[in-house]
Amino acid sequence: MRSTRHIDALANILKRGSVVTRGDGTMAEPEFLSYGSDRTREVRPEFHTLVFPADTDEVAAVVRYCVSNRLPLVPSGGRTGLSGGAVAAENEIVLSLKKLNRVLGYDPLLPALSVQAGVTTAEVQQKAREHGHFLPIDLAASGSSQIGGNIATNAGGTRVIRYGMIREWVLGLTVVTGAGEILRFPGNVLKNNTGIDLKQLFIGSEGTLGIVTEATLRLAEPPGQASGALFALTDFTRVTNFLAWLRDQRVRPLAFEYFDRTALKIVCAHLSLPAPFDRFFDHYVFLEWDLEELALDPMLEKIERAVEEGIVVDARFAETSAQADAFWKYREGISESLSLSYTVHKNDISAPIPALGELREKVQAILDSGQGRAPVFFGHIGDGNLHLNVLKADAPEPDMLPVASAESDADFFAYCRTFDRQLYGLLRDLGGSISAEHGIGTLKRDFLSFSRSPEEIEAMRRLKALFDPAGILNPGKVFRAGP
Ligand SMILES: Cc1cc2nc3c(=O)[nH]c(=O)nc-3n(C[C@H](O)[C@H](O)[C@H](O)COP(=O)(O)OP(=O)(O)OC[C@H]3O[C@@H](n4cnc5c(N)ncnc54)[C@H](O)[C@@H]3O)c2cc1C
Repeated sequence: MRSTRHIDALANILKRGSVVTRGDGTMAEPEFLSYGSDRTREVRPEFHTLVFPADTDEVAAVVRYCVSNRLPLVPSGGRTGLSGGAVAAENEIVLSLKKLNRVLGYDPLLPALSVQAGVTTAEVQQKAREHGHFLPIDLAASGSSQIGGNIATNAGGTRVIRYGMIREWVLGLTVVTGAGEILRFPGNVLKNNTGIDLKQLFIGSEGTLGIVTEATLRLAEPPGQASGALFALTDFTRVTNFLAWLRDQRVRPLAFEYFDRTALKIVCAHLSLPAPFDRFFDHYVFLEWDLEELALDPMLEKIERAVEEGIVVDARFAETSAQADAFWKYREGISESLSLSYTVHKNDISAPIPALGELREKVQAILDSGQGRAPVFFGHIGDGNLHLNVLKADAPEPDMLPVASAESDADFFAYCRTFDRQLYGLLRDLGGSISAEHGIGTLKRDFLSFSRSPEEIEAMRRLKALFDPAGILNPGKVFRAGP
């Protein structure tokens, strides 16, 4: 959208906010384009108008103007998404929530914190801590992601095994629908059984039904001091057996994260980290638990038994919080280390935990049938969630790093599209999901039917038509625009 008439009208609507157009000298080109991008690189941004409303009323006024003039809009949060959901590739207007950055209030009795949508996840975590509470949503992207974006994607993270996804923590919400109506779902009471809980429709809808402008988040009691341990295992089925065993032993994980040998080798090489054990094993688990629930000595006794029973082969316990942070680095550094070291195709999938072993074997068999594509598995396995990355590289020899294959990127990604269909077919058969956390966006919209029935997709389309009758809000995300 480049029309001066529309740009002037938008500038007139935004009394406290602002309009920036591409090349108007306000921002350098890369910064401008970053507002219509996310962390995916498959779809390139292409847009000319960027608006920064400053409050809910201004968001609503922009949406109403866009409805009247049939101008498509893309909501833009912290742009850390991994599904292409925040990418403006069709000359849409990009609506950034960056100026909605105020903490609105704190209720010590619920307890709950009310914030505007553009406050970052890390700022909300910090505010919660200042009040002696805890926001249980934590992602490696927390420093940049915004609460509005977290809600729009129903973000999870490393604590889902204990606290669930953000959906569980949203008490109240203000949204501007695609029709420009402001809906306020109050967050001042814990109990409110008055018909359909409409706010839940907007959580996880990836900005296709409405724009989140404010939220009230319930806060948790902070866990006690956490301790961490790293475990080496030889057999993938033992990883899920280990979780079952811990549950039997009344251990309540705060985090139960998995990574394989290749992931660890690459993260150690990329971040120059020392290997955690004196040799490399095929599988690793990082466990975090609350020392107030289970002290170190009884935990050590339990783990001795786990070693005797052959469930885990070796274990290292963090003796200081610095060491626990170092253990986290092995897990949290993986995604970036893979992306910066190789050409990577990413998938974020889930399946019932007992089916993960079969899934992994079948994926391995598919990839073994072709040369030069190595799988790396890691993720929030305690939630049944694996980040399956395929590297454009030959399967590594034991104790070697994978070597990039000679295949062209174009051929590699063409192959990955075929691979995805096979993977999603497996997930459908096993009762899993093609997107555990990252959402559908544009990258997975043609595969939605692998996880949702035709009746569900039709119901989603009807909801879209109800809240966004002109089809201006994030068109082409989750499913293709049009009937
Ligand atoms: C290193 C890294 C680690 C990550 N780890 C996790 C993880 O553990 N768990 C997890 O769930 N995700 C994870 N993610 C993905 C991402 O961080 C989350 O999806 C996050 O919630 C996106 O928030 P954002 O503000 O960056 O949203 P954006 O990327 O800006 O937008 C995401 C989607 O939400 C829409 N949107 C944004 N703001 C609003 C709003 N206010 N109202 C309506 N729609 C809006 C956009 O249009 C887009 O469709 C990770 C990403 C990275 C880069």
